[in-house]
Amino acid sequence: MRYVSTRDTKKNKTYVTPSEAICRGLAPDGGLYVPETIPTLDEENFRHISALDYVGRAAYVLSMFLDDFSEEELLTLCREAYSEENFPDGAEVTTTIKDGVFVLELWHGPTCAFKDMALQLMPRLFSAALKKIGETKTAHILVATSGDTGKAALEGYRGVPGVKITVFYPENGVSDIQKLQMTTQAGENVDVVAVRGGNFDDAQSGVKRIFADSAINRRLADAGVFLSSANSINWGRLAPQIVYYISAYCTLCGRGVIKYGDTLNVTVPTGNFGNILACFIAKKMGLPIGSLICASNQNHVLTDFLATGKYSKNREFYLTMSPSMDILISSNLERLLYFIAGADETCGYMSQLAGTGEYTVSSETYGAIRRDFVGYFANESVTAETIRQFYHEYGFLSDPHTAVALHAAQSFIGERGVEVPMLVCGTASPFKFAADVYSSITGCEKPDSISALGMLSELTGREIPMPLQRTLSAKVRFERSVCPDEMESIFSL
Ligand SMILES: *Cc1c(COP(=O)(O)O)cnc(C)c1O
Repeated sequence: MRYVSTRDTKKNKTYVTPSEAICRGLAPDGGLYVPETIPTLDEENFRHISALDYVGRAAYVLSMFLDDFSEEELLTLCREAYSEENFPDGAEVTTTIKDGVFVLELWHGPTCAFKDMALQLMPRLFSAALKKIGETKTAHILVATSGDTGKAALEGYRGVPGVKITVFYPENGVSDIQKLQMTTQAGENVDVVAVRGGNFDDAQSGVKRIFADSAINRRLADAGVFLSSANSINWGRLAPQIVYYISAYCTLCGRGVIKYGDTLNVTVPTGNFGNILACFIAKKMGLPIGSLICASNQNHVLTDFLATGKYSKNREFYLTMSPSMDILISSNLERLLYFIAGADETCGYMSQLAGTGEYTVSSETYGAIRRDFVGYFANESVTAETIRQFYHEYGFLSDPHTAVALHAAQSFIGERGVEVPMLVCGTASPFKFAADVYSSITGCEKPDSISALGMLSELTGREIPMPLQRTLSAKVRFERSVCPDEMESIFSL
């Protein structure tokens, strides 16, 4: 299978192999790599997949996208990534909330956020891909994080030979626990830097600026180093996320909740548009998904885009209790635009976005997007109310990101009725955001975030996940900070 950049408007396009796409991250023209065609699954494939465990399902689906890896090889890598040690409760945990509403809990991995589903596998794919393309230089992975990616990437790349990783996080844009998870990270090949006074978009723009800086890239090349990314702009991040939608569908079929061919709606709490795009790709592969419900927080740039066809990042930026969705530039939307409208249109929109901060899609493109997607958002008080409601009504303890999605799912069901079952992505452990969850449920003032862990555990009778317990007693190793416009300075040290 060949990969192409979303911005390649040439008549004779430049194609790369799956391994090259994974090693490079971003395409040289600034676009994102996408598969030339999306492979399809028929009913027989689904029956075959249903009989496998998660590791088998992952290797099967990934082999369709990463055809320069053998299925044997993928099986080995997936077995390591989705091991019982990493995912003691299982990699795909689908729970029933009430009749017809299910939560796909994707946060039972080593950092308690759904990013582990991709970031436990991606470093292994990356390392194998480097060998395949004969790359001998050291890879320096740069990550901009709104909280969860950073920790998951650090944990995934820790100790991977031939790789260094630097994570940038907005100093005041992540939760205290997220910050502590990152600044206490173990490993010799890891570095963590706070971005002062900036938000996630500043950190992400800074990383993109470094990638595009030919002087830095030349200097690094001379030193035997090349840059790559672990953000969801990397195809190696996205591909593993397609798997769990297919797997959850098979699981629900296995439980007799749906039969093969039945439509399932899916709600995804969305920031960078990676997770929901993976679901779109699963749908394109033939998974019987109906509506894709895009859930946003107070930063509802996507809700507005889906309601009007106009994307505008020129708006106030809010820090919310769901920081991993505090994003105004949803990078993976570019891939959706490409799949729907092609490279020429996508290129035009992206240059308008870079120039004026906004673009309006053609009515044809808008119509096509609306056939699959619908958007809702929850502001802070609605999010808090949803956490409280689901805890009291269903005994379901939700983190703020998942609550944003539960609210969207509930709104959608309220408007359209309940005939089609709904799968809601649960993306973080409630304990990762314990202070907000505690105060949402009790109505009490927000406790300090470290004591909140114990208080939430006591209130609900649930245990603090092991990885978070370990973080609490770990030593802080990284305290450096830079301004948004001097992120390059990490290379002059
Ligand atoms: C990253 C993240 C999201 C958003 O996912 P995208 O792929 O960026 O849309 C939602 N919830 C949590 C907890 C996350 O860490």
